Amino acid sequence: MKRRNFITKTSINTLAFGLGIHSLAQAGTAKNSAEKLKKKNTTATTPVAICTWQFTEANATAGALLDQGIPALDAVIKGVAVEEENIKNTTVGKGGSPDREGNVTLDACVMDHTGNCGSVMCVENITNVAALAKKVMEDTPHVILAGKGAEEFAVKNGFTAENLLTEESEKAYKEWLKTSKYKPIINIENHDTIGMLGLDKNGNISGACTTSGLAYKMKGRVGDSPVIGSGLFIDNAIGGAAATGMGEEVIKTVGSFLIVELMRNGMSPQEACEEAVRRIVTTNPNHTNFQVAYIAINKQGETGCYCIHPGFKMMKYANGKNMPVVSGSHLK
Ligand code: ASP
Repeated sequence: MKRRNFITKTSINTLAFGLGIHSLAQAGTAKNSAEKLKKKNTTATTPVAICTWQFTEANATAGALLDQGIPALDAVIKGVAVEEENIKNTTVGKGGSPDREGNVTLDACVMDHTGNCGSVMCVENITNVAALAKKVMEDTPHVILAGKGAEEFAVKNGFTAENLLTEESEKAYKEWLKTSKYKPIINIENHDTIGMLGLDKNGNISGACTTSGLAYKMKGRVGDSPVIGSGLFIDNAIGGAAATGMGEEVIKTVGSFLIVELMRNGMSPQEACEEAVRRIVTTNPNHTNFQVAYIAINKQGETGCYCIHPGFKMMKYANGKNMPVVSGSHLK
């Protein structure tokens, strides 16, 4: 509340109580709640796309599609595909760093405005795993397919099987093998899962999250990114959230679901992201050694982001502009 409004409202209330006119004060409060509720119930229909990290082209792709009237789910899947196909990105899709045995395994999930969702885990040889997660959502009676089953399902449905280990990633892996120290340090630069949230012209929110997970992870390790509620969660009545960073910590606090629930209880996307980070740092004294970052959007098109360590940015597309947003951080 602005100071002037506060003073004005306080004076009216004091006057009302002073005169014994309680109903006048109550009427003021009721009006405020009604206004809040009205704001809460509005739905933005000007498209917004946000994504984790500075994936400028991916976010611009989704934003442009939303502006054309494409539904949020399709827009975000096309958006994240830019990074899945970017072989220079070593933490998403083709070109992703392998596990400690040299296999590139991908995780992804999607969730739409109806609450429907799909997920694939530990998939080899398929690049566009967010699109594959959508296929699981639409064409199977299940939510999750993992490993070989997911890969076979992909090939049967026309996805091309290809080797995801690029020369560059193989070279880096061979270098790592020389010491093969396994400490999944998730520092500020070393992980670029793309989680993307879109709000379309119908006011519907959907999201996608896709990653190759931690570099040199244990074979079979799955992080938060394909776990509905952790790496991504959407409730079209409220908003959506997505995560990047140390997946194990996001899973333990069911981060994205938590953020949506906090927004349901009245927090802004920014406040909710901050509270979700607080949950991690207050329970885990080791948080100085890993990064977690969240992004969120609500039904009004308001957005927020927050992280543990400085260095995280999200991209935000709104009103035809695609801009990086520097995130606040728990540690300064
Ligand atoms: N969240 C991902 C995982 O734990 C890693 C990342 O964001 O880079 O698999």
